[in-house]
Amino acid sequence: MTRIFGPVPSRRLGRSLGIDVIPHKTCSFDCIYCECGKTTDKRCRREEFYPLGELLDELDNHLREMPEKPDVITLSGAGEPTLYSRMGELITKSKRLIDIPVAVITNSSLMDRKDVQEELMPADILLPSLDSALEESFQLLNRPHPECDLKNIIEGLRTVLSKFKGKTYLEILFLEGINTDRKNLLALSSVIKTLDFDTIQLNTAVRPGTEKSAHPLDINRLKEIRQFFGPKAEIIAAPKVQAEKTETDAEKKILSLIQRRPCTVEDINRSLGIPVPGVVKIIYSLLEGNKIVKEEQGTDIFYTTAARDNN
Ligand code: SF4
Repeated sequence: MTRIFGPVPSRRLGRSLGIDVIPHKTCSFDCIYCECGKTTDKRCRREEFYPLGELLDELDNHLREMPEKPDVITLSGAGEPTLYSRMGELITKSKRLIDIPVAVITNSSLMDRKDVQEELMPADILLPSLDSALEESFQLLNRPHPECDLKNIIEGLRTVLSKFKGKTYLEILFLEGINTDRKNLLALSSVIKTLDFDTIQLNTAVRPGTEKSAHPLDINRLKEIRQFFGPKAEIIAAPKVQAEKTETDAEKKILSLIQRRPCTVEDINRSLGIPVPGVVKIIYSLLEGNKIVKEEQGTDIFYTTAARDNN
């Protein structure tokens, strides 16, 4: 089963070829807005979940088969990528395979660790997140592992930013009533003013999360909030690249399968052997491109083609 997925259109990076370095929902957090479901292995202990050599071979094979170079290689997945204990070597060796930037998406939780700080240095783009500077909303939103300490995370971010030579995009995700009151906004903005990010990206939960209490913000509210974060702040817009331009073989296979019958994510995973995180990412890109629609039946969510829905 390949751990390489995409390229998928990324809001922030363009056409991103993902390396999924962690098992599904292995994470130091269990965010209430997580698009990938509940965390099943909450941990701060790092591990070589998949042999480094296998990941690099899969990446090499995938790159050889691609007609067009992706814009970026991204370490990501349905969990926290810095938990992969050979992350530094993976970044360095990926860059030897192809001359494109390597990005790491992280929830910042392990940034206080020296090994993680050092391993992130060869990356070209860092996309850390920090949703709160107050303990109460941090706990409510991110539901962290007990070893995650908010003050240490902030200081870890500071250390990484002081040494990192590439681009840094901080993402803050806002949910109404949790981290959007004045006290939260003042606390977070005053911390962020002391940290040297290139861009601060303001987001809200645009897709279904794990908890019904996760209420997204409308665009006007996000615009109000932007005032707190100064000129570097931007509201994350639609994907730079439309889904139809990046239809991969996996997308075609998924579309062909669900044209025949509505499927859940697990059905697609079992039928096509595509890892669940890869299925989830492709499903969301197809939903964003209005190529498929979602149908809820009891506790199950089925996906079917938009054409079928209109019949
Ligand atoms: S850090 Fe990311 S993967 Fe982990 S629970 Fe939060 S949103 Fe999900």
